[in-house]
Amino acid sequence: MAKISINLKTGEAEKDLIIGIDLGTTNSLAAYMMDGQAVTIQNDAGSNNLIPSVIYFSKDGDIIVGDKAKEQLLLDPTNTIYSIKRLMGKAFNDVKDFEKYYSYKVIDEDSDKLVKININGKFYSPVELSAEILKELKSLVEKKLNKTVSKAVITVPAYFNDTQRQATRDAGKLAGLEVLRIVNEPTAASLSYGLGQKNDQTIAVYDLGGGTFDISILQIQDGIFEVLSTHGNTFLGGDDFDHKIQNFWIEKHNLKDHLSSKTFGQKIRLLAEKAKIELGKSERFSTTINLEDSNLDLEISKEQFESLIKPLVDKTIESCKQAMSDAKLKFAEIDHVVMVGGSTRVPLVKQMVSSYFEKPVFDNIDPDQVVAMGAAIQADILAGNNKEFLLLDVTPLSLGIETVGGLMDIIVPRNSKIPSSVARNYTTSIDGQKNLKVSVFQGERDLVEHNRKLASFILKDIPPMSAGIPKIEIQFILDADGILKVKAKENRSGLEQEIEIRSQYGLSEEEMALMLLDSIKHAEEDMAIKVLLEAKNEANNVVQSTEKFIKQNEDILNEQETAEILKLKEFLAQTVKNGSKDQINKAMEELNTFTTPIAHKALDINIAKAIKGKKI
Ligand code: ADP
Ligand code: MG
Repeated sequence: MAKISINLKTGEAEKDLIIGIDLGTTNSLAAYMMDGQAVTIQNDAGSNNLIPSVIYFSKDGDIIVGDKAKEQLLLDPTNTIYSIKRLMGKAFNDVKDFEKYYSYKVIDEDSDKLVKININGKFYSPVELSAEILKELKSLVEKKLNKTVSKAVITVPAYFNDTQRQATRDAGKLAGLEVLRIVNEPTAASLSYGLGQKNDQTIAVYDLGGGTFDISILQIQDGIFEVLSTHGNTFLGGDDFDHKIQNFWIEKHNLKDHLSSKTFGQKIRLLAEKAKIELGKSERFSTTINLEDSNLDLEISKEQFESLIKPLVDKTIESCKQAMSDAKLKFAEIDHVVMVGGSTRVPLVKQMVSSYFEKPVFDNIDPDQVVAMGAAIQADILAGNNKEFLLLDVTPLSLGIETVGGLMDIIVPRNSKIPSSVARNYTTSIDGQKNLKVSVFQGERDLVEHNRKLASFILKDIPPMSAGIPKIEIQFILDADGILKVKAKENRSGLEQEIEIRSQYGLSEEEMALMLLDSIKHAEEDMAIKVLLEAKNEANNVVQSTEKFIKQNEDILNEQETAEILKLKEFLAQTVKNGSKDQINKAMEELNTFTTPIAHKALDINIAKAIKGKKI
């Protein structure tokens, strides 16, 4: 897959450059590998190399991304799009509750469809808008390195579902990037710290950005990153710290009336952010703001700031507790705590996280850059430059096929490492069966009807054989991107068929969580149905073999015996239709009790016959 091109100057084969991208809610960043080191791109506009994830649609139809767009946030709010990441892969129904957070228009023409945004009368999808941010990042790298970039690894939060991941992938495609892998942000951050390269480890990644918070507990084993649990708050971040300072000043100086002025609002918000950053280094921050006809001194101490934000940080610690209990871990089992996101620079945040986890936190890599750098490292692994490091994933839900009676037969259990390949043998249940339907399902319940159907196909033209004779091998092959291939092969005749299934796409994290929850809730009920179905399957087999037995032993059985067997068999067949598990088992037992001695007798006679015929 990796294309090789030749460097015209040196004549050497040159590998394609694959960049890593942190597509953030507040800020985005791109990184690439240089001399074995991950470096992030510099932003032309300032000393800061983060690109605000803001897109401005100017009156002249220009699309501007980054710092210049951020300036328009309060001046032209309806045409300035921010926090687009929150809308990725969402239907209007998912987001209508936080509509009030947006200054731009979110369209609900069909509440079940993916959202669109109305800008100057034109409709844009979050995918298209995210693509604008990605295009900007791509062009910044191209300018910097003076070469074209066509491949990327993009990070997403660990809790992103398949639709959101697919949307992110599509945004990359729209921006002219081949997205080689979507990587979890906490995984990327851990990679930046070189974690998991040598030892198996359990890591907590605490990510506090501008408007979102999430905690992920990762387990790294043999180079495989598994997300044990995640928790968080999609509306809690550094921006809320700014609001606290802003409101503190507004209340203290009675500035409510000024808020109607857009420029005042923007000014005080920017000053609040400045204060927050300053207070990371100093005990006190002071500044002046000019009102219409006067100047006003604004002040805040570190102590005041910390008491304002303490309740917010407490909330994040609550999430950490939840994540730890979901992962069923004790503090001692967490090897490292990694800090991610601009807001983890706030000393109180570091302090509280460190004291909660009872260990020092990893914070020596810039928390703004750590995810993009990890994406670049992952890109390098994919490019084949970092051979000792293997990055694998696990499948989130079990995969299996439907067997007789609508039972789910799991072939690849959930949390199996991927890529993987598992084969299992099946057979037919009817004599001379020509076709076998293979239905593939995903989920944890015992009955397929409660799981999600992924696909089905028919293995046709099986040569005629008695029931149970064909040897049908069903193979599940799951590649590193979670794409499932199912092969069915009849081994006696060599008949073979194959189907490819995109197992991961289209199932949301919520649906997935629900399916898991469901499987626990219904375990008892499922078990009862499962036992009933198994009894029915067994009874049907007994009915069939009884019919065969009568046919094969016509000359041995007397009339009375045949009549009694037929009666008991008929009763069993009837009970299978509407009886309970116990009734079926009882009917089966009655038939067996009656037929067993006859079967023994028949066997003796048959053996005697066979021996008689043999010449010694
Ligand atoms: P996201 O991942 O959501 O895109 P970032 O990780 O870029 O967000 O974090 C942005 C937030 O970090 C903003 O609220 C910003 O004010 C805050 N931030 C950046 N630098 C600092 C700092 N030195 N001290 C405190 N907060 C900071
Ligand atoms: Mg981030």
